[in-house]
Amino acid sequence: MTRTYRNYVDGEWRDSTTGETFDTTNPAAPGEVVATYPAAGDEDAEAAIRAADEAADEWAATPGPERGAILRRAAANLADRKEELTALLTAEEGKTHAEAGGEVQRAIDIFYYFAEQARDLAGERKAASGPDTNLYTREEPIGVAALITPWNYPIAIPAWKLAPALATGTTAVMKPASVAPGPALALFEALDEAGLPDGVANVVTASGSTGAYMTEHEAVDAVSFTGSTVVGEQVYETAVEHGKRAQCEMGGKNPTVVSDTADPAEAAEIVAAGAFGVTGQACTACSRAVVHEDVHDEFVDELVAAAEGIEIGPGDEYDMGPQVTESELEGTLDYIDVAANEGAELVAGGGQPAGDRFGDGYYVEPTVFTGVERDFRIAQEEVFGPVVAVIEVSDFDEAVDVANDSDYGLSASIVTDDHTEANRFVEDVEAGVAKVNDKTTGLELHVPFGGVKDSSTETWREQGATGMDFYTITQTVYDS
Ligand code: NAP
Repeated sequence: MTRTYRNYVDGEWRDSTTGETFDTTNPAAPGEVVATYPAAGDEDAEAAIRAADEAADEWAATPGPERGAILRRAAANLADRKEELTALLTAEEGKTHAEAGGEVQRAIDIFYYFAEQARDLAGERKAASGPDTNLYTREEPIGVAALITPWNYPIAIPAWKLAPALATGTTAVMKPASVAPGPALALFEALDEAGLPDGVANVVTASGSTGAYMTEHEAVDAVSFTGSTVVGEQVYETAVEHGKRAQCEMGGKNPTVVSDTADPAEAAEIVAAGAFGVTGQACTACSRAVVHEDVHDEFVDELVAAAEGIEIGPGDEYDMGPQVTESELEGTLDYIDVAANEGAELVAGGGQPAGDRFGDGYYVEPTVFTGVERDFRIAQEEVFGPVVAVIEVSDFDEAVDVANDSDYGLSASIVTDDHTEANRFVEDVEAGVAKVNDKTTGLELHVPFGGVKDSSTETWREQGATGMDFYTITQTVYDS
């Protein structure tokens, strides 16, 4: 049944001032409307920002343990609704039931984690030069944060911005991606149920231009964005120009290096999991396999077998769901053409699967190209679909050089049996996340996450306790 949502502004569920609505549809069955949302505009964002601004002082003065208790109650509420939210996420964004369930659980865990962090938020006691001086630091909330989120993790990413903001005493206005806003709205339902004071957290379902409006608004103190590099760079520039703190987490072109010491079957399993999980629609998805010539052919055979063994389809019985929209699907199919035209050899997938169960869903096969040169577009540009480019190299130094030959630097991994090689990789690879004998995707919530180069604005990291730094200002106190 189609659900109609409203925006949450100043503690009230509201329609938009535009009077317009928009629908989301199921990527596995695009004729099916999943939900209807208010098409909010700048006026709605204005009301939300004003509410957050007015609530800021009182929320900042609310003791951390009390803020944490609200987050904890909200987490419990989300946990009670886990099955329903998993189904919504699958219907609106297309993840398999298992992937969607994992993501909802992640959002719950994030809320619990930051509930505890709110209790621990403290400064540091320091030794002072004067014997009677009490020297310490305090962490003060920054004020109002604008949170702009993408569709590809439609509940986990909103949670990993909202929870640390609220834990620190910062108030928030969120604009989730228009493609799949439902799961993010559930966070606000849970917070409302948990007794969050009016105005502390607000959400408007609006287009990108309202995101731009929020980015330059004088009452916004900090802008946290996750999405594409092209939009993120724009957001960063505007926010900084308007005197705001800004944090932008953006795209990736993540490599897995396969050493000559690697077991080709294990390496293929790791690459396939990183490349084809969540239909390749992860910022950390593996999209380049940089493979030593001695293991190349065996690795490719294993990777092709893994790709061909993936069962595609809707809902809970399959390994891989559809892409989120027709335009994302077309983007992937275009890149497949580009790679073939560049001279890469298609060895697995390359098209849409045929069969009744696919209907007109936005499905694409897990795709593998070999014979890719490091400067091909398929080796340089983010595809955001289940496509992996295999680049053959002759030695470890060349492998690291190819891995680093990218504008991006989010996640990178190596499959190796050689500890020295693993250590050198970790030291030399240009990536915010480096992994040994593991896939490029998959993050722990209690450690920092972010990229280098065009993947991230680098100054701030999300997640982990340091994820709260973005939302706080350190004050140093000399009490004599
Ligand atoms: P996107 O098109 O850049 O959109 C992200 C968000 O920005 C959406 O809410 C969008 O609104 C909004 N937006 C669009 N134009 C804007 C503007 N001019 N000013 C302010 N906000 C604006 O990205 P996406 O397609 O949703 O997400 C996929 C991308 O996110 C990929 O590149 C992926 O690598 C990246 N990503 C990065 C990370 C990370 O942590 N590094 C994590 C996940 C995803 P509308 O939806 O209404 O257009």
